[in-house]
Amino acid sequence: MRLRGAAVCGMIGAIVIGATALGGTEGDQRRPQAVRIPPAARAPNELGLIPVLEYHLIGERESRWSRNWERFARDLELLHARGYRPITVRQLVRREIDVAPGLSPVVITFDDASPGQFRYLVQGDSVRTDPTSAVGIWRAFAARHPEWKGRGTFCVLPAADSGHAFFGDKGIQGQRTAWRFPKLRELVADGHELCNHTLWHSNFSRMSARGVQEQIARAQLAVDSAVPGYPLRTMALPLGIWPKNRELVKSGSWKDPKSGETIRYTIDAVLMVSGGPSKSPFDPAFDSNRIPRIQVFGDELEKLLNQLDRRMSMYVVDTGRNRLSRK
Ligand SMILES: [Zn+2]
Repeated sequence: MRLRGAAVCGMIGAIVIGATALGGTEGDQRRPQAVRIPPAARAPNELGLIPVLEYHLIGERESRWSRNWERFARDLELLHARGYRPITVRQLVRREIDVAPGLSPVVITFDDASPGQFRYLVQGDSVRTDPTSAVGIWRAFAARHPEWKGRGTFCVLPAADSGHAFFGDKGIQGQRTAWRFPKLRELVADGHELCNHTLWHSNFSRMSARGVQEQIARAQLAVDSAVPGYPLRTMALPLGIWPKNRELVKSGSWKDPKSGETIRYTIDAVLMVSGGPSKSPFDPAFDSNRIPRIQVFGDELEKLLNQLDRRMSMYVVDTGRNRLSRK
């Protein structure tokens, strides 16, 4: 039998990888597909890499921009089994990595607020969350694994077309228009983070300074209408494209011509659309203004986890007084 697990003895930090563990019985010279290190055997490494995963559509299809919902469910199983626990982007930049010693943080982000991420099923007066939507899958998984908390980061578009605005609940006939606010509140109540993805997925390179600020400020205003006072401090840069003046992404203001009110915003974390796993926030080279992400499609997630395992390069929470991350 071909063994894919590592032969491990000792406590956290003691790693013994024998020939067998490297992928075969003696005499089997094939190179291993993966060296899977049981989470408990990982050496602490709070300067290690943290995957920031990026999902778009969740549904039936599997493609570059769409994750089949059953595969999304398997992604959560895979991450959990490989010793990862979710944290939000906000936690990442604030170094609040409340993951148990020996385990690794993963950040799971959802862009564009499409219906497959969070859908209600309605029958008469009963409203329930679609178990095949990302939020439904996450909740079912968390029910089986209480240590898997609500820690996704949802980068929403309050005013986009094509059903993307707030999970498809804007401007659609009848009562559905009323549901965008409950959904945002439910996400926050579950522990998830809300993130600014602009009003309608603007290409900042084509906008005036005023337009950039309007897009960010009005998106914040829309979230604030649903969850008053919510600190919307993470920005997923649409298409990964900066405005000419990058500072406008970090902070700015916009005066509402109707009310005369000035809306100010501050962004603490900017998510890019690609770039591989993120550096640890304790690494001096970590840049909260350019957090790279990994798009999840096909077998990319498993390949990534295998690569991190092979190189032992993932962030692993330390124990005791050596621990850098706040609990
Ligand atoms: Zn997007």
